[in-house]
Amino acid sequence: MIRFLFAACLGLMIFGKTAQAQSYPTCFNAQNIPVSYFPDQTISDIAIARNAPNGMPVVLWNPNVTANMHPATVEFFYYHECAHHALGHTLGNYFPGAEAQADCWAKKTMISIGVLTPQKYQIIAQQLFQQSKPGMDWPNGAVRVQFLNNC
Ligand SMILES: [Zn+2]
Repeated sequence: MIRFLFAACLGLMIFGKTAQAQSYPTCFNAQNIPVSYFPDQTISDIAIARNAPNGMPVVLWNPNVTANMHPATVEFFYYHECAHHALGHTLGNYFPGAEAQADCWAKKTMISIGVLTPQKYQIIAQQLFQQSKPGMDWPNGAVRVQFLNNC
């Protein structure tokens, strides 16, 4: 089941290069609060999902990192970070398996709203394969893509 409500494409989000502004559907967290996305060049990863000091759900994304990624992969990470909010990972429910779950949710959500073409998936899988750092749920990009293929 997808606990992800779309505001009929009213939500405009910029998550890619500033020169190539992308529009994605608004992301909502598990409490149905809309998630705000902000650029932040100081984070050491492509993006992180967290709650701001005032409690509002946010995603910080690093434009220096997304600038070197294919737009399809940037789009995938938009949904991956949204997943952390939508699935409650940012509300104290983060666990081993949460990263793989976020990847799977991103893939399934993109399929369900009709934005994941086979060509796009191929690009995303290739970049995840080549560029994923070892993480909690995978030792390398090959294993990450294997999970994603099977989800
Ligand atoms: Zn993640």
